[in-house]
Amino acid sequence: MTQQISPAQESSVIDQAPKQLFIDGQWVAAESGRTLDVIDPSTGQVLCSVADAAEADGWKALRAAERAQADFAAMAPRERSNILMRAFELMHERRDDLALLMTLEMGKPLAEAYGEVTYAAEFFRHFAEEATRISGSYQVAPGGGQRFLIHKQPVGPSIFITPWNFPLAMGTRKLGPALAAGCTSVLKPAELTPLSMLALADILKEAGVPDGVVNIVITSESGQVMEPLIRSGIARKLSFTGSTGVGKKLLEQCSEHVMRTSMELGGNAALVVFDDADLDKAVEGALAAKMRNSGEACTAANRIFVQRGVADEFARRLAEKMAEYPMGRGVDDGVRVGPLISAGQRDKVQDLVEDAVSAGADVLLGGEPAAGEGFFYPPTVLTGIPEQARVRREEIFGPVAPVAAFDTEEEAIAAVNDTEYGLSNYVFTNDLNRAIRVSEALESGMVGINLGVVSNPAAPFGGVKESGLGREGGDVGIDEFLETKYIGIAL
Ligand code: NAD
Repeated sequence: MTQQISPAQESSVIDQAPKQLFIDGQWVAAESGRTLDVIDPSTGQVLCSVADAAEADGWKALRAAERAQADFAAMAPRERSNILMRAFELMHERRDDLALLMTLEMGKPLAEAYGEVTYAAEFFRHFAEEATRISGSYQVAPGGGQRFLIHKQPVGPSIFITPWNFPLAMGTRKLGPALAAGCTSVLKPAELTPLSMLALADILKEAGVPDGVVNIVITSESGQVMEPLIRSGIARKLSFTGSTGVGKKLLEQCSEHVMRTSMELGGNAALVVFDDADLDKAVEGALAAKMRNSGEACTAANRIFVQRGVADEFARRLAEKMAEYPMGRGVDDGVRVGPLISAGQRDKVQDLVEDAVSAGADVLLGGEPAAGEGFFYPPTVLTGIPEQARVRREEIFGPVAPVAAFDTEEEAIAAVNDTEYGLSNYVFTNDLNRAIRVSEALESGMVGINLGVVSNPAAPFGGVKESGLGREGGDVGIDEFLETKYIGIAL
């Protein structure tokens, strides 16, 4: 699965990748003819150019979604389910190309890209199964006489905006439930990683998604292109995955027509290791929570709190294991740490590390960006981090593990909750009572107990506080795309 990729395979997958906008079931150039470059973060070189939409292209996409809505909502749920299942199968059939394309544009190691293709496809299978289970209810009014008919209807045309860190899965997590519920959409992926979503559009077309039901718009002017569409009120739903700052702006735009929103925003996950935990499992869990996607994940463990008696030992073992992660181009065999997405992201990580070190933190591993081409930052472990260091509060988005010691359970809970974010947290302990007590006290939408990766298409994903609104996946994911209509009947 992950044997060495040749330069010829790289060029071939890039040459064959769709590079135009996908609007109303057709591949089209931007009206202006403008294009934007896609960069390989492992070399800093241009991979290819793709169409770069302006506002006029965005309108075409939204109008197409608006036109397609009524017929798509009327399509039999079984038919929508079959389309999703076919798309799931096609993603598996084309996983080699999808994974390679993703690694080239985003940088993650090929094995992780394969993992993401599987994870992303699973949202289609999961929601193919949900599509035929949308149900309402019929009830006698408590006072007798009337009857209540409760009916679920698709929300309507939706706008999706997704980030670069999981170029496929962040899209399928929205498209799966939207298609299952009968909603059409305009999806705008991050301009840094457009190729994966365009390749998916090809699959959706082949799977039988009718023209106009899914439209993909790539643009280097996200704000200018998306704001008028959001403010138009034509779309009835915005589902956004990205930073909290942009999410807040979009919420304000959505308020103009009181659009429904799902907001999957930033995270600042903590990982807590109690002294009764199995230390080997805790180190394995921390590696998964920290090193997946080279730390560029909203669920990445940014703050590692270890009970004092085992803190030094844990940090030493973690650093030893992280030192064994080979860094390099994601296409190279055996690589486990790819480049960060951009020079800016690498510099931001370095700033956070420098700030911590100048405040007095110790560097157990790494601590300096790699020289040479590409945007590489090596696995880094910091200890003894003072309270005021920015790394204790800000999302890192890199392979940097800050380890701090704590004494009591209460102290650990307070430290974990001392953030405006509330997406996920991780707890390692062998005491069941403590596991439940602490999980309930943590202010986050998700908690992993002795587990370093919580995401699962069949479980509800989402955050509290400034990490967002709503849930994706699980049995509730489809509700984000359904309106509940109450029909009162006089008897
Ligand atoms: P970002 O907010 O900069 O960009 C996300 C998307 O929004 C991109 O498509 C971007 O082009 C678009 N965008 C940016 N400004 C916009 C504007 N003014 N109007 C409309 N669209 C705009 O975030 P990013 O750097 O791409 O991704 C990293 C962030 O995403 C992190 O904060 C991470 O925690 C978060 N994230 C959250 C989840 C989750 O499920 N909670 C998952 C992955 C990433």
